[in-house]
Amino acid sequence: MPVPATLDPSQPSTAPSAMQRTRIAVARWFDTAAAEADNADSERIDWLRALPFLAMHLACLAVFWVGVSHIAVAVAVVLYAVRMFAITGFYHRYFSHKTFRTSRAVQFTFALIGASCVQRGPLWWAAHHRNHHRHADTPNDVHSPVVHGLWRSHVGWFLTRGGFRTDWERIRDLARFPELRWLDRYDILIPLLLAVALFLLGGWLETAAPELGTDAWQMLVWGFFVSTIVLFHATVTINSLAHRFGKRRFATRDDSRNNLWLALLTFGEGWHNNHHFFPGSARQGFRWWEIDLTYYGLRTMAMLRLVHDLKPVPAWVAAKARAS
Ligand SMILES: [Zn+2]
Ligand SMILES: [Zn+2]
Repeated sequence: MPVPATLDPSQPSTAPSAMQRTRIAVARWFDTAAAEADNADSERIDWLRALPFLAMHLACLAVFWVGVSHIAVAVAVVLYAVRMFAITGFYHRYFSHKTFRTSRAVQFTFALIGASCVQRGPLWWAAHHRNHHRHADTPNDVHSPVVHGLWRSHVGWFLTRGGFRTDWERIRDLARFPELRWLDRYDILIPLLLAVALFLLGGWLETAAPELGTDAWQMLVWGFFVSTIVLFHATVTINSLAHRFGKRRFATRDDSRNNLWLALLTFGEGWHNNHHFFPGSARQGFRWWEIDLTYYGLRTMAMLRLVHDLKPVPAWVAAKARAS
């Protein structure tokens, strides 16, 4: 979809009409290049652009109409687990921090799974996250609960006009891959395809295996809406709660915390104070008892030769962790 002329910087800037504004907003749903070109007030929440995301929350209430079955809940749980791993192992530890290496095919596969999480594309995610480490808990950190409050750090920042933009300066190393740029630009496409696939799966199971007690709508609601919304809120607890609640083992410049409950929920990301102290290792649980499911998954992938060169926790960091 072409960028609307009203967003073209070469055009003289005149105030767009209501109709043009709506067209621009709808274009932003399908093509993030339209959001890139929009230089409007970056602090304000872009309600129209956020509409599909808000509608997904409401769609979860449909569980009361579609009912529940074991298979629908199982699909929701499996999709939560696989996609959480794609976010923590790849969006975070690979794309944002480069803590291991992999092939272009595996890189794309997990970028694709990550893109189905409605957390936008890998380039956008990595750029925002690298900025977070650079400016953690200062006014330039868009999701600092210390500076901006809990609501803004959890989800408000994600819905602002500025929040939609990708800082290309931060991700020059990733932007050279056209397939990643494509995923980033059309970030609504992969989630839509997943939703359609789940709807079709449910419809097929209804006739092929009626004893399972599921159907198209039930599979869509549980497998896509419920799973994705729980996954989203679990992920962003690391921006909000993991900078407020838990222990500070290391005196980092930010207010990051280690929190076992968040580590379990997010497959290891809750050891967030460890991570802010030393973001360069593939492992975030620095002690043997600090459960880090993502790291165990990455180790398994390394054994299968799908990833390699996992960066370890340096001896001096491990010693400092033991001494605390
Ligand atoms: Zn943080
Ligand atoms: Zn990080």
